Amino acid sequence: MTLFLKLVFRNRLAAMGAVVITAILLLALLTPILPLHDPDVTATADRFKRPFSDGHILGTDHLGRDLLSRLLHGTRLSLAVGIAAALIAAATGATIGIVAGYFGGRIDNVIMRVVDMLMAFPYILLALAIVAALGPGLMNALIAVAAVNVPFFARNIRGITVGLAGREFIDAATLAGMGHTKIILTELLPNVLPVIVIAMSTTVGWMILETAGLSFLGLGSQPPQADLGSMLGEARSAMISHPHTSVVPGIMIFLIVMSINLLGDGVRDALDPRLRSGALSRPRATTLVDRKGPLPAPTNDLLSIRDLETQFHVGARTYKAVGGVSLAVKPGECLGVIGESGSGKSVTALSVMGLVASPPGVITSGAVYFQGEDLIGAAYETLRKKRGDRVAYIFQDPLSTLHPLYRVGHQLAEAIQSHQKVPNHKARARAIQLLKDVRIPNADSRIDDYPHEMSGGMRQRVGIAMALANDPDVIIADEPTTALDVTVQAQILSLLNDLRRDRGLAIIFITHDFGVIAQLCDRVAVMYAGRIVEEGPTQAVLDAPAHPYTKHLIACVPELGQGRRVLATIPGLPPMVDDLPLGCAFAPRCYKAQDKCREREIQLLGTKPRAVRCLFPEEPV
Ligand code: ADP
Ligand code: MG
Repeated sequence: MTLFLKLVFRNRLAAMGAVVITAILLLALLTPILPLHDPDVTATADRFKRPFSDGHILGTDHLGRDLLSRLLHGTRLSLAVGIAAALIAAATGATIGIVAGYFGGRIDNVIMRVVDMLMAFPYILLALAIVAALGPGLMNALIAVAAVNVPFFARNIRGITVGLAGREFIDAATLAGMGHTKIILTELLPNVLPVIVIAMSTTVGWMILETAGLSFLGLGSQPPQADLGSMLGEARSAMISHPHTSVVPGIMIFLIVMSINLLGDGVRDALDPRLRSGALSRPRATTLVDRKGPLPAPTNDLLSIRDLETQFHVGARTYKAVGGVSLAVKPGECLGVIGESGSGKSVTALSVMGLVASPPGVITSGAVYFQGEDLIGAAYETLRKKRGDRVAYIFQDPLSTLHPLYRVGHQLAEAIQSHQKVPNHKARARAIQLLKDVRIPNADSRIDDYPHEMSGGMRQRVGIAMALANDPDVIIADEPTTALDVTVQAQILSLLNDLRRDRGLAIIFITHDFGVIAQLCDRVAVMYAGRIVEEGPTQAVLDAPAHPYTKHLIACVPELGQGRRVLATIPGLPPMVDDLPLGCAFAPRCYKAQDKCREREIQLLGTKPRAVRCLFPEEPV
């Protein structure tokens, strides 16, 4: 809540709006106890007194009534009616929208056609028709304004509900035996509530205006009762001769609507979940770089990550997701990166091409050399040319990385054509060849499938084909087989293995499964809390793990046909990277940790290519 207020008040205009509308609301609340004239008592002798005349600070109107008193009472009424109309419209509209969106089918159809019909009428005409049918009066004006705004809420909320109703957590609630009412109230409503609040905060001002409009036309509040609209209406005939009678309510309407709209915009920005973390801005095209000190020297590898540090700056907190990682691959080599979830593998991988979202991500030190050129300091255009062309990525969930509305062939062709000038038919032929390369059967017809028509394994093959589209030198695969079953996983692994042998591809393969590393990788680096704790040739690490963490990770892999043994687990959880302990980050979970481990930073020690970051390794390296 305080964070929310802070975000709103960071926006200067919203803060101004909040101050003004709070002042007006306070005045309106206090009106009955303020020492004011009776707003409805006429005194024809005092007609049209100018502002600042004695006894009447804002002057009097055409019947000699005190303008200040009428203004405050009128404001009170206008605010009450506007806000009530907004609440009624939001509640009714949201209910209709949720019911239509949740139940779908015929219910949805009938409800939405009625809503469409309402929307087909011009706004003010509809309100006029409703008041004409019900008769003039403030209550009826309120009903009319609420009614014409119901479709707006209904449409908005229905759209969001339809999206939510198909999601897995709703299915899970249904499977858990919850009834419709409970699902709507406990699962759907909390998710649409922010949208309702946003829609309301941006429309209250509008509804106050509409009520004032109806009153202005004489259809809302009836004399002698004053609201802002009727005050304007009554002052119309004296507009030229005594302008203060219309200027006073006019300024009040302006202040109310303006401040509510400014505040509403601020609330919307602060509630938008994408804007909630970090500054109120879109992520940049490349990760922010803020390096101090000399750069590490380049090596003669194809791709080498040197002392990379990537952090997330969220408010006052600094998450050290990657804390000084060095990795390198040569052509045709496969390097495995392994570690528990949250150990910084993905952030390391995304840092290579400047793909970490900024804000909040910042690369604070280190370099990434690709063929001798530093990518971290590179211009956006240089990175864009290499992304997907020289260095390609494969991600875990191919369903979320493929566009749902385009055929896979189209997307493959697009990947090719964004880096090479080839005519459409050639791109298509190449796309078919790529699908054949990743062993998709009937590639000629499958190319016209949509992503949802393919199985998980097939989609991941398309993901790999896309990564291969421009014959990259390096592929960074971030848990590409985690979502797949073991047989498909084995096929994908052998496919990647063939590709690197045939094409001399360098692969950085990220996973949390030592079994996968054993099948595919020449070397392996073990990550924990953003740092490498052990590295070496795969077989050497598997045979004689040196770091207690590595030993635990290997013990967690079940072995088939090896007789029964107790499966190991690692006690405790990985540490939060915004508050790392001094010394070894694994010490709190380590069975052989001593005081020495917690005193100072521990270096990566050993004789190349083996290295371990441990004072008491299991095996000498
Ligand atoms: P994994 O090894 O599972 O791929 P990640 O690289 O995704 O782990 O995450 C490493 C750490 O960075 C995690 O502890 C996570 O909390 C933190 N992190 C990732 N993204 C953000 C973010 N946008 N804001 C703050 N912290 C983040
Ligand atoms: Mg990850």
